[in-house]
Amino acid sequence: MPTQRHWREIPQRYRLEGNFCPDCNRYFLPPRLVCPGCGRKELTPKKLSRKGKIVTFTVIRVPPKTQELKTPYPVAIVETEEGARLTCQVCDCEPSELRIGQEVEIVFREVMREGKTGVIMYGYKARPV
Ligand SMILES: [Zn+2]
Repeated sequence: MPTQRHWREIPQRYRLEGNFCPDCNRYFLPPRLVCPGCGRKELTPKKLSRKGKIVTFTVIRVPPKTQELKTPYPVAIVETEEGARLTCQVCDCEPSELRIGQEVEIVFREVMREGKTGVIMYGYKARPV
């Protein structure tokens, strides 16, 4: 991920700042420019809950060549209490222990490094409760 993009995404990655459509009562993370339900462009910034559940997940056994990640690692779609759905890694668990519907909390972790001497990027991961 380019460093500039990472800096732009700090509010959502560090503080779970998504947004909300008051017409549809839907929450988004990452935040959207336009509501996919009604087309509204003025969405309200909203900090989301760190509690959620796993909607579905997969286990990555071959990581992207640009990253040095210990495999296998699970990646899940997590739905927050508000109903926003986000994709993230699941940490602090064995992939074989994960279940759909499992409750998780969203925690702040290192997510990526740009090489051995590059920038360390932080963001969110899910952890089973
Ligand atoms: Zn809407």
